[in-house]
Amino acid sequence: SAMKVVIVGGVAAGPKVAAKVIRLMPHASVTVVEKGQFLSYAGCGLPYYISGQVKNHAELMSTPMGALRDAVFFQKVKNVRILSRTEAIKIDRAARSVRVKELGSRKEFDLEYDKLVLATGASPIRPSIPGHDLDNIFCLHGVQDAEGIKAGLSGDRARDVVIVGGGLIGMETTEALARSGCRVTIVEMQPQTLGILDAEMARLVELHLESNGVKVLTNTKVCAFEGDGKVHRVVTDRGTLAADLVIMGIGVRPNTALARAAGLEIGETGGIKVSEQMRTSDPDIYAAGDCVECTDILTGRPAYVPLGSTANKQGRVAAVNLCGGEDAFPGILGSTICKVFDYCVARTGLTERAAKELGYTVTVALAPAPDRANYLSTARLLLLKLVVDRDTRRLLGVQAVGPGAGDKRIDVAATAIAAGMTVDQVAGLDLSYAPPYSPAMDNLITAANVAR
Ligand code: FAD
Repeated sequence: SAMKVVIVGGVAAGPKVAAKVIRLMPHASVTVVEKGQFLSYAGCGLPYYISGQVKNHAELMSTPMGALRDAVFFQKVKNVRILSRTEAIKIDRAARSVRVKELGSRKEFDLEYDKLVLATGASPIRPSIPGHDLDNIFCLHGVQDAEGIKAGLSGDRARDVVIVGGGLIGMETTEALARSGCRVTIVEMQPQTLGILDAEMARLVELHLESNGVKVLTNTKVCAFEGDGKVHRVVTDRGTLAADLVIMGIGVRPNTALARAAGLEIGETGGIKVSEQMRTSDPDIYAAGDCVECTDILTGRPAYVPLGSTANKQGRVAAVNLCGGEDAFPGILGSTICKVFDYCVARTGLTERAAKELGYTVTVALAPAPDRANYLSTARLLLLKLVVDRDTRRLLGVQAVGPGAGDKRIDVAATAIAAGMTVDQVAGLDLSYAPPYSPAMDNLITAANVAR
């Protein structure tokens, strides 16, 4: 009889597994269980929905050909059964079944599986600061949060918004809200925003935020929210801020309750432990996406860097292996990119701070240069920071900040680091050149020469 595959979680990793399993085994019986209402949406696109660049949330759930990825689409086009508004509540590993509960009817039933995939994702951390349950305090994780934020913004006067947390979600939300006419203040507990970067690189982004009218308060801790039903003020250890709306972006935690209760091994970062095949400690259960712990390619250490790019790749690997094929997920370098107003902000590999903490002796190079031929009006400044292992001369990490095109430099750097290249090899790379695209010596090559 057909292989029964049950997938818990229906946003990024889950639907990727479902689609790949059906491609490999068209007659498999594939069921996706999702407790939310929306499926297969682009969470990464939510800031652009808030800013209005994406008009309708359905656009975040459509294929490039314009079809809506809803339950009917999955059933008809993909032959995948979708149980939305349905929560998986318990795994019985001995019986190979999952108990699920329909959230509307509260009806419970069991789904049998030959292979189970956990794609339960992560949830935003909601600290129990006094007043945290006032209205107009949001996290941004799903479509419903974005709807809530948009509703909280409706009305015509410019609003005071406080963003708690200067990480990636905080930055993307800041731009979206500033574009909607809000006065935005970022409150960050650490001495710098953007922990993906070294402090001096983050400082440049903070200055750019300030030049766009955003207030950035570092070394500042939120103590309480005050208001009357709705939030009106954010009390910090360095003063009180007016707020009509608050966005909490202080990080996410992997959703591992189901896995823990089933006795599956959990890693030291808190994510579900998986092999390179994306198999958990139970050979019939796979896991992928924001719920799993990854391995850092450079250091070989466990790492938790929840990203949509990783979730999709892992979902594909899990699907291939559970169908009997062979594929492996090699790990991550923490490659991350984000747009902050006119700046590209990106990094791959280790920051100088992280490398030193790990005991490397490093050489660093800072290389500011136009990102294409300086005589063209399209040329923009880009600052690269390279971190190199002094002993082996290997490239350990690269950061990019500025209006110039950092994306391709970071992606070449990620490739070079994964290949174990030295700074000398990077300086000799045969990268493409024409004046509208880069300087004759690409920025990454120049930076490598500075580091040598
Ligand atoms: P999730 O998207 O968290 O989905 C998991 C789903 O599982 C949830 O819908 C949850 O309801 C469901 N679930 C959990 N437990 C159960 C259960 N017991 N029963 C039933 N259902 C359950 N990544 C990038 O790479 N680049 C970006 O630019 C980027 N931007 C982002 C911007 C924003 C605002 C956000 C919120 C995220 C962004 N990300 C980005 C991260 C990316 O969205 C996530 O890494 C990706 O969604 C992870 O997918 P996932 O399927 O593993 O988990």
